[in-house]
Amino acid sequence: MDQTRMRRLGQKCTLLLAVTLGFISCKSDPEKQTNEDLAVVEKEVLVPDVYEFGFNLNDYIVKRDTVKAGDSFGKILESNNVGFSKIYEIAETARDSFDIRKIQIGKPYTLLCAKDSLETPRSFIYQPNKEEYVVVNFHDSIHAFTSRKPIKYVEKEYSGVINSNISQTLADDGLSLILAYKMSDIYAWTIDFTRLQKGDRFKVIYTDKYIDDTIYAGIDKIKAAYFQHNTEPFYAFEFETDPVNGITDFYNEEAKTLRRAFLKAPVEYKRISSRFNLNRRIALYGNRVRPHKGTDFAANIGTPIVATASGRVTKSSYTGGNGNYVKIRHNKIYETQYLHMQKRKVKEGEYVKQGDVIGWVGMTGNTSGPHVCYRFWKNGVQVDPFKQKLPAAEPISENLKVKYLEYIKPIKIQIDAVPFKGVPQHKPEQNLITQGY
Ligand SMILES: [Zn+2]
Repeated sequence: MDQTRMRRLGQKCTLLLAVTLGFISCKSDPEKQTNEDLAVVEKEVLVPDVYEFGFNLNDYIVKRDTVKAGDSFGKILESNNVGFSKIYEIAETARDSFDIRKIQIGKPYTLLCAKDSLETPRSFIYQPNKEEYVVVNFHDSIHAFTSRKPIKYVEKEYSGVINSNISQTLADDGLSLILAYKMSDIYAWTIDFTRLQKGDRFKVIYTDKYIDDTIYAGIDKIKAAYFQHNTEPFYAFEFETDPVNGITDFYNEEAKTLRRAFLKAPVEYKRISSRFNLNRRIALYGNRVRPHKGTDFAANIGTPIVATASGRVTKSSYTGGNGNYVKIRHNKIYETQYLHMQKRKVKEGEYVKQGDVIGWVGMTGNTSGPHVCYRFWKNGVQVDPFKQKLPAAEPISENLKVKYLEYIKPIKIQIDAVPFKGVPQHKPEQNLITQGY
């Protein structure tokens, strides 16, 4: 494979040299140097068969490239000595298995060419993604098919101690940041990853994915995790709750969900005086569209307003329109905001738990009556909380719970046995006591 790639590079170099002959000294040209080096390598690497896409690559001149802007299937073949009528025939015949118009810029393709003087292409292989490839054969008969590269999963264990943040800890050990993202997803509702403590520690059992045995294709999934945050242990085990639809979720060692639902409302309200409505028209404003990006809960002045989910207060402030208001970030996806408070109870940076009082109903700012205007943000955009598929905090069913507890037994033993880096191997509980974080 390398050999052929090198040969191709060699050909390019020769061409380049021919063009630039007389302008550049060959000896000073680094490409020439490479060319000579490759020529030597080429002689040595004659031996083992290299199989890819079901072909023995040694039987062909292998030309690899990626689809460039302006490229088409026809153009690629044409520039590789395939005649127009042949291209048309290939496209028509292979049509049912491969739509040539679907090739996308940036995707790799490979041409397997005959080892003759014309280097006539025999097969075109297109890779729409890392795992799949489409083979279009047009040597004797024309046919096309899609295949997958064999995939291997390798289970791995890792433990780390937080010094500044989880990404740094993983980076120091040369691990993918994806692991950090996956961990923060799992713990999105239980641990604030922006406020980890130095000395917080974690273990994780995950699977790496390899294509063709050798190409690392990233972390596939986390099987189990253990996080010790502020001396508190948090276990997470992945479990398939709905095999039919392939739905999995994470639960702790007692089969409790790691997710938290939002409360339906931030106050005990009398009525919803105005719903989220992007097309609201108000007579007062000449019947023009004045979107209402909140839900108004009418309540008496002084009624306590509570945080609908745990999180960190990012704003506790006053503006002419909002009046006294508080904004809370719950995790990297969700934020909530509470407007027109009589008085605020929390400060910016403060951590609040679901149900904690954050202020009291008032009519500060631009409002005609006492209410809380509750605003719900998802990925930085205001949405209607009543129309969201919010994370369910529903407990696992009794039937599944038994299965789950049985399933995690060996996995818990496995993760408990993963030693913390640089720490003598105890059980996590003992660490808590002896380390005294
Ligand atoms: Zn409102």
